[in-house]
Amino acid sequence: MKFSNVLLIQILHYKYAHFYQIITLQLRRELLHIVIVGAGPTGVEVAAEIHDLIEQDFSRNFPEDLQLDVQMTLLEASPTVLSAFDESLQKYTQKFFKRQRIQVRLGAQVKELKDQNTVILGDGSTIKCGMVIWSAGIGPRKLLGLLKDKIPVDPKWKKIPVDDFLRIKGQEDVFAMGDCAVMESKPLAATAQVAQQQGKYLAHLLNTVDKVSEDIGGANNQTLRPFFYRHQGLMAYIGRFHAVTEVCKPNKLANMLDGFSQAWWVH
Ligand SMILES: Cc1cc2nc3c(=O)[nH]c(=O)nc-3n(C[C@H](O)[C@H](O)[C@H](O)COP(=O)(O)OP(=O)(O)OC[C@H]3O[C@@H](n4cnc5c(N)ncnc54)[C@H](O)[C@@H]3O)c2cc1C
Repeated sequence: MKFSNVLLIQILHYKYAHFYQIITLQLRRELLHIVIVGAGPTGVEVAAEIHDLIEQDFSRNFPEDLQLDVQMTLLEASPTVLSAFDESLQKYTQKFFKRQRIQVRLGAQVKELKDQNTVILGDGSTIKCGMVIWSAGIGPRKLLGLLKDKIPVDPKWKKIPVDDFLRIKGQEDVFAMGDCAVMESKPLAATAQVAQQQGKYLAHLLNTVDKVSEDIGGANNQTLRPFFYRHQGLMAYIGRFHAVTEVCKPNKLANMLDGFSQAWWVH
């Protein structure tokens, strides 16, 4: 079922219950409590989008006090939201979310989800809610597990270890790139800009030489450069047509973008 349908059902349930007074206010608020786990860019953007959905769309068709009954909590195990961003942008996002009534709880590690509506935290405290959205990272593909006898898998990263030329450790002329691979000399984030640059690099490498293992350290060594990642910047949508962005070219700048035109660009 689509996420918006689930939310709509919860809200219809709220409306029905509100009208006939068949459930208590406390239960209604619990049902309309959305917990998002992980305050990286994905978790922050999900919180922002749900906030927009409730504030800008659902508020037209549902009782005015609905917005007050819907609660959103963003849980993050580390001490900050958007850990890869500049500190000023992290603080800006936290303040912005506070104004939008999105509760951010830092240092809050989720230990367990019980009975589908109780989140249990590391310190033993619990949060009752109607919906939990997991945005605390992705796991490795099944395929990687099936191949574990044929190719190495890094025990820490649960990914295929590769050298600076994206060659799989211990293999000749076999490569891995993108989310499934980790560069041992410099582990990079699992992002599209890393995967895209690695794809271009590998295409060039394979078009340049016949047998990479012979050419590295061999006669063609001059033409074979190791993969070099060029960071283009970061951006996260934080709701109400606002985004935080870190631009890396020409200098590392920290900007805030406001207004409709930039927000349209964000989408
Ligand atoms: C919710 C979310 C939001 C994200 N937002 C951003 C963002 O804003 N910016 C950013 O830079 N990155 C973002 N990322 C990360 C980005 O999507 C990945 O880093 C990027 O897609 C990695 O590319 P890839 O080609 O390595 O893997 P993928 O894009 O995952 O591609 C792998 C492909 O292989 C297919 N596949 C898997 N197993 C098999 C099999 N056995 N046989 C055949 N095909 C198979 C899969 O179906 C998939 O199509 C986000 C990721 C998630 C989950």
